[in-house]
Formats: sequence, C-alpha cells, structure tokens
Amino acid sequence: MDFSLTPRQQELAARARAFVDEVLLPLEQVTDDHGELPMELREGIRQKVRDWGFAGINHSKENGGLGLSMLEQTAIEEQLGRVTNGLWSCVWRPPVSLKFGTEAQRERWLRPSCRGHRRGAFAISEEGAGSDPRQVRTRAVKHGGEWLLTGVKWFVTSYNASDFVIVHAHVDDDPDRPTLFIVDKPVVNMAHLRSPKFMHNFAFDHAELEFNETPVPEEAMLGGIGQGFELTKDWFVEARLQIASHAVGAACRAAEVANDYAAGRQQFGRPIRDFQSIEFMLADMAVEIFAAKSMLYRVAWEIDQGLDRKLVHAHASALKLHCSEMAGRVIDKALQILGGRGYMRENPVERLYRDIRVDRIWEGTSEIQRVIIAGQIKKRGLGVFADIGGASS
Ligand SMILES: Cc1cc2nc3c(=O)[nH]c(=O)nc-3n(C[C@H](O)[C@H](O)[C@H](O)COP(=O)(O)OP(=O)(O)OC[C@H]3O[C@@H](n4cnc5c(N)ncnc54)[C@H](O)[C@@H]3O)c2cc1C
Repeated sequence: MDFSLTPRQQELAARARAFVDEVLLPLEQVTDDHGELPMELREGIRQKVRDWGFAGINHSKENGGLGLSMLEQTAIEEQLGRVTNGLWSCVWRPPVSLKFGTEAQRERWLRPSCRGHRRGAFAISEEGAGSDPRQVRTRAVKHGGEWLLTGVKWFVTSYNASDFVIVHAHVDDDPDRPTLFIVDKPVVNMAHLRSPKFMHNFAFDHAELEFNETPVPEEAMLGGIGQGFELTKDWFVEARLQIASHAVGAACRAAEVANDYAAGRQQFGRPIRDFQSIEFMLADMAVEIFAAKSMLYRVAWEIDQGLDRKLVHAHASALKLHCSEMAGRVIDKALQILGGRGYMRENPVERLYRDIRVDRIWEGTSEIQRVIIAGQIKKRGLGVFADIGGASS
C-alpha cells in the first residue's frame, strides 16, 4: 500500500492552506462580529477564489470545473476546514445534481456556477420533513406548460449568496414522485420569510422560503419526475466527504492551537504540557486525528478507484459519522487545554467548538448515519466495514 500523496496532491493541499491563511483567516473575526460575511466583501472573495485556482473544484472539466479527483478535492477541503464561521463555503461547490441535467441546463446553470458567476442553494428540508424526506409537503402541479410549486422550505443554506434554488418537491403531492426543480431568483410568488440565527455564525444565511404557486418552466425540471432522490444520492456522498474533510481540518487546527498553548503556558512554575493530564489529552487528540484522517483518505481513494456505489455510500456514512464526532471530542479537549482563553469568542477554538456541532446534524444526523451503517451490516455483512468475510454488493 502506498499512502503518500503525489506532488500534485501535495501542491493542492499547500496552495489551499496558503489560501486559507492569507485570504480566509483574516475574515473570521469580521464574519463572527457581523453574523455573516459582509455583503461588500463577497465579490472580492469570489475573485480571489478564481485567482487562486479553486473555481469549480467538484466538477469535471467538461462541465466547467477543474476535473479534480476525490482525493485532490479532499486535500483542498481538509485545509478549508481549518477556517471558522463556515468561510470554507466561499469556495463554491455547485450542486452535484446539476451534472445530470441536459446540455442546455448545464450550460445555463452548471458551467456559470463553476466559474462563480452563478450560485445555487438546495432546499429539501421543511418544518415536518428533516431526516424523513418523504414527509415533504411542497408540491409541484403541472399547469399549462409550467410547474407551480407550493410549500415552505427551511434551512436553505447560502440563499443570500445564490441566484437560484434547487427545490425538492413531490409531484401532485405524491411522495413516490420526488422531483427537483430549479427556481431562478427573482421569481414571482416566492417569499423569503426570514433567515434565523444559529449557534454558529456562517458566511451566508440559512433561509426559510415560501412558495405559493411559484411558476417554474418545464425546462427547469432537473432529471425526470420521481428522480429527486436518485439525483441527490451522489450529492450526499460528496457532502459527507466534504464534512469529514472539514472535521479533520478543524480538529487539526484546534490541536495545533492547543499544542502551542500547552508549550507556552506556565502554571505552577512549568509549562502545562508537563502535567500528564494535559499531555494525555494531546496524545488522545493526535491519535483521533490520525485515525480519522487515515479513514478519510482511504474513502476518497476508494471513490477514485471506482468502488461499487453501494459500498461508497456505506463508507461515506461511516466516515461522516466518525469524523464529525471525532472533531467534537478533539475540539472539546483543545478548549479545555486553553482554559478560560478557549472560551473567548476571539479564540478560534471557541468558534470551532460552535461551528463543528452542526456536522453531527446536517447531511444526515449521526443517528441516521448509524441507521444506514446498521442496515448495510444487516444486508451485506460486517465485511462492508471490516474487510472480513467478503462483503457482497
Ligand atoms: C445550519 C443548518 C443548515 C442546513 N442546511 C440545509 C440546506 O441547505 N438544505 C436543506 O434542505 N436542509 C438543510 N438543513 C437541514 C438538515 O439537513 C436537517 O436539520 C437534518 O436533516 C435533520 O433534520 P431535522 O433537523 O428535521 O431533525 P429530525 O429529523 O426531526 O430529527 C430530530 C432527532 O431525531 C433523530 N431521528 C430522526 N429519525 C431517526 C431515526 N430513524 N432513528 C434514530 N433517530 C432518528 C435525529 O437523529 C435527531 O436527533 C440544515 C440544517 C442546519 C442546522
């Protein structure tokens, strides 16, 4: 087995780290103070993402992206995970489902999104539909030559940075016909109800939207009727890898801050790292990161090798579960090592502590990941995860 990164992968990781240090870290405090990235800074950051060569990191060259492998994307995302306040989302990842669009749809929405001239938000969750998307109440009804969408969506991330929203709706209220519709902004009969505050401060908002017979032309239906989940499946895999990468990056940054602090902070006449309780926390943090990072790179590599899609889904769930929970434990320890300073909002570890919590909730909660993993074990055997007994696909 060869676990070394190629020179190309190393270069991408180093460039991403430099981008984070030079461009994103200086925005952390202003974003936290302001509650989100101030509007007047947004265009400048978009241009910097292009200048540094990170426009369209998750799409093929044919679709206007950079054509990076999953391992290469992981090397970048891990570095982006070091930054707080969701500023990693300044480096856009156009929705994966768009790659399944027609040539005309890809030309209209995907390629400009890769270049950063357009941006899409994704709206599936509702008041009554979270882990169980069959509870979605937003419906799409055909009227004349167009679709009319009616319903209320919650938690639409980056709505105020987007100029279109991909809406998951049930055709004729039928949960067996989940379908995706691309809604361009501005549009009649769609209202932005509010953008509530959350535990983290995030670069962009998480909006609630009301659709009231919002008209969508036929050519803005993505895929076929009933294909809503099928088109979103790949996106879940990608999102789970992205979260895992961010979690590893966040844990690394917290550990670095805590390690430096433990070396410099003197109490009782010696550096606090000389107390075994502190030293053991650092040891546990390092081991947690070591294990999670090994898993992360393995799953990214498996995807690049073309591992069976079902196994990829299973491994992405396990990875997201492990890395998001690992980061919570590591950052909690880092905060403890920093004492009162770790509890101050101006300290990155305090912000990481707030930021990382949502990783156990969005893109499938930890409980839902366990449901998926347990289901795979029941269906295909433990070999899916333990490489024993030959997993069946
Ligand atoms: C900051 C933020 C941004 C988000 N961005 C978006 C977005 O851009 N677009 C979008 O569509 N959605 C978005 N979401 C929604 C997110 O995907 C949901 O919050 C998530 O899927 C969980 O749904 P829920 O909050 O309704 O919780 P629920 O599904 O109501 O779950 C509540 C609790 O019950 C548990 N539970 C539920 N079902 C089971 C089960 N079968 N077995 C065991 N336990 C179970 C859950 O794990 C959880 O602990 C976002 C959420 C947040 C917080």
